[in-house]
Amino acid sequence: MDKKSLAFWQDKAATLSIEGRAFIDGEYRDAEGGRTFDCLSPIDGKLLAKVADSGAADVDAAVSAARRAFDSGVWSGLNPRQRKAILLRWAASIREHMDELALLETLDAGKPIADTTSVDVPGAAYCVEWFAEAIDKVGGEVAPADHHLVGLVTREPIGVVAAVVPWNFPILMASWKFGPALAAGNSVVLKPSEKSPLTAIRLAQLALDAGIPAGVFNVVPGAGEPGKLLALHQDVDCLAFTGSTNVGKLIMQYAGQSNLKRVWLELGGKSPNIVMPDCPDMDRAANAAAGAIFYNMGEMCTAGSRLLVHRDIKDVFLDKLIAAARSYTPGNPLDPNTSMGAIVDKVQLERVLGYIEAGRAEAKLLLGGARVKEETGGFYIEPTIFEIPASGAKVAREEIFGPVLSVITFDTVEEAIRIANDSEYGLAAAVWTSNLTIAHEVSRKLRAGTVWVNCYDEGGDMNFPFGGYKQSGNGRDKSLHALEKYTELKSTLVRLR
Ligand code: NAP
Ligand code: MG
Repeated sequence: MDKKSLAFWQDKAATLSIEGRAFIDGEYRDAEGGRTFDCLSPIDGKLLAKVADSGAADVDAAVSAARRAFDSGVWSGLNPRQRKAILLRWAASIREHMDELALLETLDAGKPIADTTSVDVPGAAYCVEWFAEAIDKVGGEVAPADHHLVGLVTREPIGVVAAVVPWNFPILMASWKFGPALAAGNSVVLKPSEKSPLTAIRLAQLALDAGIPAGVFNVVPGAGEPGKLLALHQDVDCLAFTGSTNVGKLIMQYAGQSNLKRVWLELGGKSPNIVMPDCPDMDRAANAAAGAIFYNMGEMCTAGSRLLVHRDIKDVFLDKLIAAARSYTPGNPLDPNTSMGAIVDKVQLERVLGYIEAGRAEAKLLLGGARVKEETGGFYIEPTIFEIPASGAKVAREEIFGPVLSVITFDTVEEAIRIANDSEYGLAAAVWTSNLTIAHEVSRKLRAGTVWVNCYDEGGDMNFPFGGYKQSGNGRDKSLHALEKYTELKSTLVRLR
């Protein structure tokens, strides 16, 4: 059978066996009391699996297993090159299980199979490889000190790291946490989103099989509760979170109410994409602007959800943009030709449709605006574009996390910068121009963790720190800087005489 066919994936889905239990101390376990929640597929609304609904007893068991493993040194005490070898085996196994993991991700989150096989799963394997490869190369410092001293500055694993992650890139966002955390020698308790728990659960077995000792990598799926329990836990040393700004604020409070665990937050965004009249390639810019908001159904923290276009080129640019947007047609995510899949669940579908209703009242609808393919039982929304009046609109201010683009017109560079920065968020931004000075000056003034010039969403390699200014979060994923989140700095001063 042709691997690149809908039939191939449907066939594979029909015979797929799905694990839904939590993974604690090296084994799959039911949640205490056998509690489960329904894991549905947004492709057709049908039940995929009953998944363990972890509660306090399960979270406690996972955290104590992680603590025991950490204290025993079974992982934290390995030489860096030993951890590296095991992590590389795990990454290789993730690649060997590519089809299965990609299929699970597609069924669970509605993402196109073309993306889960090319971005999500290989991206997670690459992340594990990258931090594995790095960990036997990064060292500490011998700091200048008074003559009678030797001064060492070293980094040590922090202990038990809880990772609470979202549903838009389930395996990939999780890997950005557990990759550096495990490489640095920590134990991890991973809490996937209730909307997309399946790949995390499957990964745990692959981790154990690759040689990651029992207790070092635990997964506690659940519906809402385990994230909060982990954030309030007295024996979790660090909580790495990716999700909404509202929940991020709660997590900081939970840390304050419990043990002041280190909290790292990757949160929402409302990223501006600025197109100047001297944009070097309008076709490329229009395609990128469409991709920036319609790729992954707009369920992107970096979504270029505010398109700022100079008045002189607005009409010609919008024609190109709308043509580019039409190439994102919602289709069956299992079809390898599908470029736009399903919205993750009914709750999110209704949230996005609610924003579209608000947009119709305040702004001019240029494209889309409807739920489609309802007969499938799944959750699909067509690419939607609004032109925003000078007075503004809710759709242009709030994060929607769906395929809804706001187009804003500007007249001067200063105005574009002011509008771009007029947001509580600061995750990413882009500017398109042929003028080197404008490119650099605008980049400097944009208050965002990532700025793209004449591109959008570039940076598939691990070398660039990823995270937000303002209410888009703190700390950075990816790059060697990510290791800073999962280590404590120690100064050791040795008196010689
Ligand atoms: P979310 O509702 O904040 O949920 C994120 C995670 O937190 C889930 O695992 C969720 O568990 C858990 N959670 C919910 N309530 C909690 C609480 N009171 N205490 C502790 N944990 C809790 O966000 P989402 O809807 O999954 O994801 C969308 C958001 O993530 C967007 O705002 C997006 O911008 C952001 N995001 C940011 C980045 C980035 O790198 N900056 C990347 C991707 C996504 P349940 O699923 O069980 O509710
Ligand atoms: Mg799901």
